Amino acid sequence: MKFISTRGASPEGVSSAYAIKTGLASDGGLFMPESIPEIDLDFIKELVPLSYPERAARVLSLFLTDYSYEELLEDAEAAYGNGKFNPSPAPVSSLGGGKYMLELWHGPTSAFKDMALQIMPRLFVRALRKCDEERTALILVATSGDTGKAALEGYRDVPGTKIKVFYPIDGVSRVQKLQMQTQEGENVSVVGIRGNFDDAQTGVKKIFSDGEFAEKLNEGGVFLSSANSINWGRLVPQIVYYISAYCDMYAQGSLALGEPLDVCVPTGNFGNIFAAYIAKLMGAPVGKLICASNENNVLTEFLACGRYNKNRAFRTTMSPSMDILISSNLERLLYTVVGAEKTAEYMKRLSADGEYTLTSSEFLKIAENFVGYYTSEDECRATVKRIYEKEGCLIDTHTAVAVSAAERYINDGKAAARVLVVSTASPYKFAGDVLLSLTGEKPSDDLLAPARLLEHTGVEIPAPLSATLSKAPVHLDVIDREAMPSSVLEFALD
Ligand SMILES: *Cc1c(COP(=O)(O)O)cnc(C)c1O
Repeated sequence: MKFISTRGASPEGVSSAYAIKTGLASDGGLFMPESIPEIDLDFIKELVPLSYPERAARVLSLFLTDYSYEELLEDAEAAYGNGKFNPSPAPVSSLGGGKYMLELWHGPTSAFKDMALQIMPRLFVRALRKCDEERTALILVATSGDTGKAALEGYRDVPGTKIKVFYPIDGVSRVQKLQMQTQEGENVSVVGIRGNFDDAQTGVKKIFSDGEFAEKLNEGGVFLSSANSINWGRLVPQIVYYISAYCDMYAQGSLALGEPLDVCVPTGNFGNIFAAYIAKLMGAPVGKLICASNENNVLTEFLACGRYNKNRAFRTTMSPSMDILISSNLERLLYTVVGAEKTAEYMKRLSADGEYTLTSSEFLKIAENFVGYYTSEDECRATVKRIYEKEGCLIDTHTAVAVSAAERYINDGKAAARVLVVSTASPYKFAGDVLLSLTGEKPSDDLLAPARLLEHTGVEIPAPLSATLSKAPVHLDVIDREAMPSSVLEFALD
């Protein structure tokens, strides 16, 4: 299986190892498989008795054909086995009213990013070998919270790699900040940036596009790579849990084999929901894809009328991992609908004017599969409270955005049958806002919120998060954006 750019460069394609090693295609586009492998109901039936790592290896092997099944199984066992996900990687439970919940936050950093970032570093190290790459890879990340910590945990002490994470000191939750400041590992660096997420992101992008900088690193035997959700290595492991969830629901008797399952995903960069769409294209019985946004509702508008317009005020919400105006992976959806040439054209318009509009036939093809809802801050808070009081289920603010969207979708009479709502973070990761939603109480220090939330609900704090709360921060550097390149250089050549 070869991988090609969404913008049309190198149509002859590259190997999956090369796509994972480089992240971005040479024309600025994203890598996509040249064709989508097909699965049928027999394939799903065969997965039912298997463990999650075995299911993962089966699905990954359809896309990563330059990796052997044994390699993929070994990596999947190392990523998802060994009790790293407690109780299991992707359990499904019933939420009442035809809704089911897929919990993806039982890994080491309590957010769904672990599902990809526990296995991706292993695929990445193999990719270096497969591509005869002898230099050290420096993984450079700008984060609004969850990606940074999950990438640090995934890449820590991985041979042949170093990882450096920049986060905005005022743009992440207290728990998220502490998680990063207490990071262990010999090859990690964590630095706060005075400014917001955009400042950190822009600084990192500038470093990535600086040829002279790359040359300096190269002389020291180092090259830059990214752990961003635009990397195919982040996306492909996410396809697995949708197929796995279907297997589990079938095994639990919640649906008949072949019966369509609608999926509702709290969305930011469109990576998670796009993985569900690929599962559907492969032939998994996925029905509609419900894209749930917060008040940064650029995707809701796009899915309602085909116009993408990022020219609007950026809002800081209580679901910060979805505070995004440029949803990078949407480019992959465009590519599947309009092809490479038009995708390149729309992306050019987006960067020049901040907007583009699909033709009505293009839009209809997307609307066949996707529907968008957005959840206001008030409704998000009310949903956290309602689901806790009615269903006895404690959910985080991102998950609440999706639960509210799913409820409205069902009330609108649009649901075919069952709706699988994706739960993306532990409520304890956003304990301050969850506590406020339940009790109206706001502790003086957000780091006190987890203990208060535990007292109030009796719901267990995930063990890794609980350990973090009693650790002393060690990464305390804070710098201005201008100092990012020298900070990277110093760490890279150290
Ligand atoms: C990253 C993240 C999201 C958004 O996922 P995308 O793949 O970017 O759409 C939603 N919820 C949480 C908790 C996240 O960390």
